[in-house]
Amino acid sequence: MVEKQPVYVMPENVSRTFGKDAQRNNILAAKIVADIVKTTLGPKGMDKMLVDSGGNVIVTNDGVTILNEMEIDHPAAKMMVEMAKTQENEVGDGTTSVVLLAGKLLENAEKLLDRKIHPTVIVKGYKFAADRALKILNEISVPLKDQNVLKQIAMTAMTGKGAEGNKERLSDLIINAVNIISSERNFSSEDVKVQKIKGNLTEENELIEGIILDKERANVDMPLKVEKGKILLIDFSLELRSPETETRIAVSTPEQLESFIASEEKYLKSLTDKIINSGAKVVFCQKGIDDVAQYYLAKAGIFACRRVSKSDMEKISKATSAKIISNLNDINEKEFGYADIIEEVRAGDQQYTYIKGCRNPKVVTIVISGSTDHAIDEIERAIKDGLGDVISAFKSGRIVAGGGSIEIELARKLRIYARTLGGREQLAIEEFANSLEAIPEALAENAGLDPIEVIAELKRRHEEGSVNDGLNLFNNKIEDTIISGIVEPMKVKTQAIKSASEVAMMILRIDDVLVSKGTGINAAQNSAAYEGMD
Ligand code: ADP
Ligand code: MG
Repeated sequence: MVEKQPVYVMPENVSRTFGKDAQRNNILAAKIVADIVKTTLGPKGMDKMLVDSGGNVIVTNDGVTILNEMEIDHPAAKMMVEMAKTQENEVGDGTTSVVLLAGKLLENAEKLLDRKIHPTVIVKGYKFAADRALKILNEISVPLKDQNVLKQIAMTAMTGKGAEGNKERLSDLIINAVNIISSERNFSSEDVKVQKIKGNLTEENELIEGIILDKERANVDMPLKVEKGKILLIDFSLELRSPETETRIAVSTPEQLESFIASEEKYLKSLTDKIINSGAKVVFCQKGIDDVAQYYLAKAGIFACRRVSKSDMEKISKATSAKIISNLNDINEKEFGYADIIEEVRAGDQQYTYIKGCRNPKVVTIVISGSTDHAIDEIERAIKDGLGDVISAFKSGRIVAGGGSIEIELARKLRIYARTLGGREQLAIEEFANSLEAIPEALAENAGLDPIEVIAELKRRHEEGSVNDGLNLFNNKIEDTIISGIVEPMKVKTQAIKSASEVAMMILRIDDVLVSKGTGINAAQNSAAYEGMD
């Protein structure tokens, strides 16, 4: 008798889950992630308190921030987190919605799997549905009329967030910021810097036509403030020659040393003289500035900052139109930048350098001040949502009705489309439609309303042709949300539908999960999988 030998094709430390187990496991993980963020959706959503291993606390209701901080392990759940990040990078808002939608798409796909519908059929149906939904969105979105609507978009994005108390003022700042930077064709949210100032300098939030550095001037003998300043940007150091490379200097007598030092000082003097004679009143240097150089610059009444980061140098350049210079022989008035005021300001125990009143700045700064880090951070996240939405609406010029209206209308139109198709894909398209309704459902539920009643009423209104009716959570009424000014850019929705359907389809296609141990990932309940393998 020959004994049966086991055959090993993978190292022992790879665990494997496959077939139904892999699928169900991934779906479950995605559902869990969606459930976590669900209660934060909308203006009445709750916040999450996250404490990391170092004991740092974050309080937020921003979807992507929650997932980022959660140290998620499961591979499918990680795909959801990546998706939320894509949403954040592409639009800047809608991260909770996209996660909720993907979770719901998978949950509903599971129902179809239970009915023995093959995953490839579901994937095909979902693909049809997503493509059709994008088309419908284009048709039913409405053009952006005026600045007032941009403000409504910013306000909608910030409703119920940390910025709630100041949302009117902050919305104005966002609109003004976007109006300024949009003179440049390729503007983006990168061109609006959000500067947090802790320590209650002024309670006011403000927009600065320029930027703020987390830096003080290099030397206390330099002026605190320069008005109508000509600004010079240099990316080389004002220090002794080649301090990085170890130069060996042989000196055998004190006189030699003295003359060496004198020659170095002379060299620094010649450098600083060039700057002083150029007429520049402010210098931002990407590298170091030696004490001797600081002394000469201070004596000439020049304001200088050293070791300014490269990205800040670029921002100063964009704000003030100064060119970054690599060689002092190139100094020329044309390369100078300009700002009305360059000033060191102290707030709390931190110094900042304000560069404000720039002409035609391509970069502007929204200053948010407050007394605690938690509060300021959450305001910053809200501003970024508002900013992302305003820029998206500004660029595409198309908006949609919020408060769950657009989702109800998309679902309705998708159901009509499904009927024209027939076949098993039709069932998947219907589940896609059901998944979209998870958004108004969560909005209602989070506000303590009866979601079933709300959805039924919304659907009835849309059947009757009130295509912009949504749930207004200011007054808990169902009404035309375009008229009530609860509006969002179309791009939030197109991006969410694209990403959520892609991730759902990707997860549905997986029927095998192979995990190397030592990755820290716990291959999902793999005992069952091993049994299936013998
Ligand atoms: P996300 O991370 O997906 O942007 P939010 O918590 O910002 O999540 O919630 C966005 C949802 O809240 C959108 O569907 C939007 O239409 C809705 N919403 C915003 N303001 C209101 C309001 N006043 N009434 C009803 N729904 C609102
Ligand atoms: Mg939002």
